[in-house]
Amino acid sequence: MARVLFINGGSEGHINPTIGVVEDLISRGEEVVYFAIEDFRERLEKTGATVRTFDGQKFIKAFISGGRNFLLERINGLLRTADIVIPSVLEQIKGEHFDYIIHDSMFGCGYLLAQILKLPAINSCTSFAQSKASFDKMMEQLSKTIPTEIVQEFQSLTEKINEKYDVEIPSPYEVFCNPAPMTIVYTTKEFQPFSEEFDHTYKFVGPSISSRLTREDFDASEIKGKSLLYISLGTVFNQAIDFYKLCFKALGNTDHTVVMSIGEKIQIADLGETPTNFIVKNYVPQTEVLKYTKLFITHGGMNSAHEGLYYGVPLIVIPQSADQPIIAEQVVRIGAGLQLKMEGLSANQLSEAVDYVINQYSVYKAVASIRDSFQKTGGYHQAVDEIFEFKRQYDV
Ligand code: UDP
Repeated sequence: MARVLFINGGSEGHINPTIGVVEDLISRGEEVVYFAIEDFRERLEKTGATVRTFDGQKFIKAFISGGRNFLLERINGLLRTADIVIPSVLEQIKGEHFDYIIHDSMFGCGYLLAQILKLPAINSCTSFAQSKASFDKMMEQLSKTIPTEIVQEFQSLTEKINEKYDVEIPSPYEVFCNPAPMTIVYTTKEFQPFSEEFDHTYKFVGPSISSRLTREDFDASEIKGKSLLYISLGTVFNQAIDFYKLCFKALGNTDHTVVMSIGEKIQIADLGETPTNFIVKNYVPQTEVLKYTKLFITHGGMNSAHEGLYYGVPLIVIPQSADQPIIAEQVVRIGAGLQLKMEGLSANQLSEAVDYVINQYSVYKAVASIRDSFQKTGGYHQAVDEIFEFKRQYDV
């Protein structure tokens, strides 16, 4: 049995794929201490892990205060979280021994903590993997438009962190992607763009979808056997009252039953009258709902896209931000659905897209093929097999 330090942040998309991994690690005898924000305590404790938290509000505030317009601002935001996460983790694990660390690919300063604690590290990558070469190329292109004060802030933040914690931060790549000697990527090589760029230290284990504790009450009998459409913009970029109203207009009073998850930031009452064929909730058990869904209108978060395709559901992707445009492109590339732009979207356009996709045999064929390839992968079981192989290599 080894002791594992698991470091994550405060976002559902980065935590959900790790649930099965942690459960499986524990069932194979590992002891897991999992750091995240308080909101996820219940879900994580269910796995059998010991859960410890850092201040979620300060963490999110620090991240957002970096700015959101340029990628380097987000990277500065991640650097700003170092003073929230690192002292808190170090204080809470004082005097304890850990054998290895698994950290998120973006949140929680895992690259830095692995250096401070001198632990063999595994990167848990919940989006597409990004190689240093392609990241640097992208940064170089973006750098032409980045204001100098943002670049200066990056330099000053890295210097301060270096002095304070005695760690190296060679470039923005290490902050944004948290590379490690092994990276678990929760997708397949077929779905990953430019998969040939990744060496054997990247383990493409496929979607990690496990039954998870959900906090909502949802009566599945209401949706079974119906022509079900499901709409969600995920848990982060979901404050879109106009879009939800547009969905009412496009799909209200049709033969479809529509489940729409609007997130916790807006009230259902703010949407006005709900058409009788709609079930609107702030949160639904998505992986349950998808089992009965004919078409998923999604923002194209990595987990939502995976979960939809895993259950054989075609997608209409309306990307909002972050990595979602790349995911939308991949969905279109494999023929598993359509992409629409949020800007200028009309009710007519949405209802036509729905009619098109649900009547398109080629889409269902493509979706069936990716569903089979996803279901064949080992997901979290394979992730844990890879972790045990890593332990052997590192003599843990
Ligand atoms: N989710 C859910 N119910 C909801 C909305 C979202 O269970 O009503 C889950 C969904 O299954 C997925 C995660 O939240 O696992 C969202 O992650 P994703 O990467 O799709 O998007 P993000 O929220 O990070 O933008």
